[in-house]
Amino acid sequence: MIKMSNKLMICITISVIACLFCMNLSTLAATSTSPRIAVQLNDDTLVTKDNSLTSVWTTQIGGVEDYQIEGNRIVTKSKDGKLVGKDGASSPWTTLIGGVESFKLEGNRIIAKCSGGKLIAKDGLNGTWITLIGGIDSFDAEGDRIAAKYSDGKLIAKDGINGTWVTLTGGIDTFKLSGNKIVAKDKNGKLMAKDGMYGAWITLAGGIDTFDMQGDRIIAKYPNGKLVGKDGINGTWVTLIGGIDTFQLEGDRIAAKCLDGKLIAKDGLYGTWITLIGGVKSFALNKNIIAAIITDDILVAKDGIQGTWLTLTGNVKNVKLTSITAEIPDPQNENITAFKWPVPGTDTSDITSGFGIRVHPVTKAAGSMHYGIDIAAPEGSDIVAAESGKVVFAESSGSYGNRVIIDHGNNIKTTYNHCSQFLVQVGYQVSKGQVIAKVGSTGRSTGNHLHFEVVKNGSCVNPLDYKYN
Ligand SMILES: [Zn+2]
Repeated sequence: MIKMSNKLMICITISVIACLFCMNLSTLAATSTSPRIAVQLNDDTLVTKDNSLTSVWTTQIGGVEDYQIEGNRIVTKSKDGKLVGKDGASSPWTTLIGGVESFKLEGNRIIAKCSGGKLIAKDGLNGTWITLIGGIDSFDAEGDRIAAKYSDGKLIAKDGINGTWVTLTGGIDTFKLSGNKIVAKDKNGKLMAKDGMYGAWITLAGGIDTFDMQGDRIIAKYPNGKLVGKDGINGTWVTLIGGIDTFQLEGDRIAAKCLDGKLIAKDGLYGTWITLIGGVKSFALNKNIIAAIITDDILVAKDGIQGTWLTLTGNVKNVKLTSITAEIPDPQNENITAFKWPVPGTDTSDITSGFGIRVHPVTKAAGSMHYGIDIAAPEGSDIVAAESGKVVFAESSGSYGNRVIIDHGNNIKTTYNHCSQFLVQVGYQVSKGQVIAKVGSTGRSTGNHLHFEVVKNGSCVNPLDYKYN
């Protein structure tokens, strides 16, 4: 009985946390590989740059009013509301639909609000549009969850395109989904959050102006420019700084533009602010790159807080960043027929939480997505590479704890999380069955286990869909 409840604890915590971060996998995986920068020029041409800050610009399309990039995908909206998309910078454009007012890319899903407030979604560029609801004002999507707000402030959400809409609350001004959490600000500036669709609303702060949440971290700005942050709904607010205009969260990093145009950044709630550059109009960051549009619409960027600023181009109206992982074709892996089981000495009977959507064990909320499998094993047990490949990530990564990602080529990657110890580094070529790390409980975890994921074409798939030997 005691053993059973311990195992249950592991799955509860890990599954919730794993889904917070899994959708960012392409970003995380790419930290050691390829940054992508997309820029809307003053003449509304979209240009992108892959691989490195110094690579050449590629002109993508003209007449752009809005655009988004996620992984390899680029989607743009023209002034007349036509949405076009492509997977890969050199692929042909696919016309997706017309009459769009706003849209969002979330994993493989494209969600769009059309004129009249009709919300539609489809999976993949060539998927079929499904009408979700009509008459809405704004929406957000995270993982499989979609939330929408009516103009009277009523907030609704559902899990999955085919899920049932649930009314969450009324009187909402702005809101955001982050992992399993829903954060909302009401019309009086009261900030509240809840854990899952059926959790209870908890009031976090009053009188705020704007907020953001990423992972477990919540940052809020007051109308006077004071920035506060906390980790977790039940965490304690920490005053970060005053005089802020806009801010952005990315992983552990907080970047902010001051009212005087100075761009500052720090790592962690308790880190030290570093002044990066002045004269900033707007900025963007991903895990490595910081980009800023400065005086005279010049785009500058640098690799990391300590990097050197490079001038990239002029006449820039807007900049967005994503990350893509360089594909390393590996002919020997053209047909993966069977993986090596990643924790020798264990088997499927040691899985404490499987892949997929399930009822949350504590809140009974439906639709909590678990993007991998949890394999219980004692601390220090060997973790082996499920297939040969190249290590593209090996560092601590928020709630994942110590995380290794191996690229096997052909758009297949595997990830190994909560490790106690790394035995490989980024760039290592590993063979199938090679010990790469040790089982642990780092990151958000209450017990020793491996959270193992298989990522195919950028999306997590069920590891048990593969054979093991
Ligand atoms: Zn897990």
